[in-house]
Amino acid sequence: MDKDKKKNGFRIPVIIYYVVILLVIFLIWLWLVPNANKPTYETVYYNEFIRMVNEDKVDKVEITSTVITIQLKDFDSKKPVYYRTGMPVIPDENLLPTLLEKGVDFSSPIEKSTFWLSIIQLVVMLVVGVLGMFIVMRIISKRMGAGVMSFGKSTSRIVGEKSTGKTFEDVAGQDEAKQQLREIVDFLENPGKYTSIGAKLPKGALLVGPPGTGKTLLAKAVAGEAKVPFFSLSGSEFVEMFVGVGASRVRDLFKQAVEQAPCIVFIDEIDAIGKTRDTVFGGNDEREQTLNQLLAEMDGFDSSKGVVILAATNRPEVLDKALLRPGRFDRRIIVDLPDLEGRKAILAVHAKGVKMSGDVDFEAVALATAGASGADLENIINEAAIRSVRAGLTEVSQKEMLDAVEAVIAGEEKKSTVLTEQEKKTVAYHETGHALVSALLTHTEPVSKITIIPRTSGALGYTMQTPKEEKHLLTKKEALDEITVFSGGRAAEEMVFGEITTGASNDIEKATRIARSMVTQFGMSDKIGFVCIDSRQQAYLGEAYSSDCSDETAREVDNEIRSIITACYEKAASILSENREILDSLAAVLIEKENISGKEFAELLEERGIHLDPAKKGA
Ligand code: ADP
Ligand code: MG
Ligand code: ZN
Repeated sequence: MDKDKKKNGFRIPVIIYYVVILLVIFLIWLWLVPNANKPTYETVYYNEFIRMVNEDKVDKVEITSTVITIQLKDFDSKKPVYYRTGMPVIPDENLLPTLLEKGVDFSSPIEKSTFWLSIIQLVVMLVVGVLGMFIVMRIISKRMGAGVMSFGKSTSRIVGEKSTGKTFEDVAGQDEAKQQLREIVDFLENPGKYTSIGAKLPKGALLVGPPGTGKTLLAKAVAGEAKVPFFSLSGSEFVEMFVGVGASRVRDLFKQAVEQAPCIVFIDEIDAIGKTRDTVFGGNDEREQTLNQLLAEMDGFDSSKGVVILAATNRPEVLDKALLRPGRFDRRIIVDLPDLEGRKAILAVHAKGVKMSGDVDFEAVALATAGASGADLENIINEAAIRSVRAGLTEVSQKEMLDAVEAVIAGEEKKSTVLTEQEKKTVAYHETGHALVSALLTHTEPVSKITIIPRTSGALGYTMQTPKEEKHLLTKKEALDEITVFSGGRAAEEMVFGEITTGASNDIEKATRIARSMVTQFGMSDKIGFVCIDSRQQAYLGEAYSSDCSDETAREVDNEIRSIITACYEKAASILSENREILDSLAAVLIEKENISGKEFAELLEERGIHLDPAKKGA
């Protein structure tokens, strides 16, 4: 979709174009000069000249006060030779009568060809000069980031796609979003139906959601379903270095859209121009002008013509209120991360073009990828296909799919990292600690894999847990058990080796994050109570929170977090010391095998007298 966007960089083809023109002109000039038959002049004595006249050899003469130029009758224009008398002209009263008598033409100027040659030369020089200057200007303007020659004019015409070739079929899941967008499709197909009743249709809809969830795809699908042209520009493309360029681009965009109505205008990443116009840190003139122009255009155009504006953003909270008022982007369509069913459907859509073996189970893949976006899932399928090719297979099997998931989540296996015996032992106990604690607690997810093969992400090993079904709520018990499982690694190290390592840093970070959320967002701490302390800053991007509380409360919160984690850690330690023999024997198996699948883990526990609940047996 980026192919028709031209960035402001140095546009090599254009320069080459001008250089070629210059070269051609230069060559023509080189060719012209020798072929123009530069005349030669021979000096003759005056009496010689008179003799030539008398002998009827002279065709024309040109007389000036300083020189007489003579052209003979056997003048060859291909090899022009003129004769000249010396300076100054000798006063001779008989000259004119003689010339008249001999019929020599002395009125018309000779050397016509040289005259025209100089004109051509002049023109060539002018053209070369102007072109050269143009090129220099062009280079300078490119360096400066915008057209010097075209102040305030957009440099590239916005190119619309005649048809996007996408339909709602290509968008899996996102049923609510599709439902809302279907109305727009209907409007584009027959605007008359709506205008005859007097219904005003929304001019614009804002697609809101995390990156990679299919916002751009949905916008294209709307155009594809309605079979209308699709004009798209990314927010950042409006914002140029020179004030006024963005605004004129907006004008251009709307002018073209109205000409081509019905059509879709899509403004991707609209937050780049649509940020709140604050002046706290000094406003950005260009962006504000662009935004103002956009607001003006949205008010100005007649929506009954069938132009619908879609915009996408993952930062709705920063958008200027003026953009969101009725008559502008008054519809907000949430495009959130897919749920289990959505993930299954997305996998199925992208698996269409890939040869899949019969054993591929999308449900299992979808379960292992909670929180993945559509783009992530597409990536996983492609990753699996590449792995299959590498392994010399003709189709993608479930193993490749799960390996791809693992590679995306934990990074690739890193064979080059060589652990010492002691390190390997430490990692094995650490991971077994996690797994065993998880198995022995009630409110935990089944263990699906334990491995001590280092990964490119930096992990020396990990224990993977995959839920059996998708959950939408997290109970307090589950949260506490999760922290306890995270503590299990360090607890095992401490108990077995009497020494602790840096290997638990990631566990500590995750455990602390859960504990902090329990206290500051979920009201799960009795001491702090039903109070919100951390509130989310961005709805769809990352985990940024802002805290709002007194210093005293902050201290209390910290203490509360610490006491939650300490309690969990102690619980993990006591579980492990009660099952020390099982821990030892499982760690020995892990050191030997390096990988243990969820099924093998359940069997190993069974052999050691621990019967897992069926719901907690991993695959
Ligand atoms: P966004 O604009 O929301 O960041 P995109 O629309 O660019 O995301 O999606 C990136 C890619 O991810 C798409 O090209 C598509 O292949 C895939 N994708 C995302 N969501 C879906 C979905 N619901 N169904 C099918 N493919 C999807
Ligand atoms: Mg996008
Ligand atoms: Zn760990």
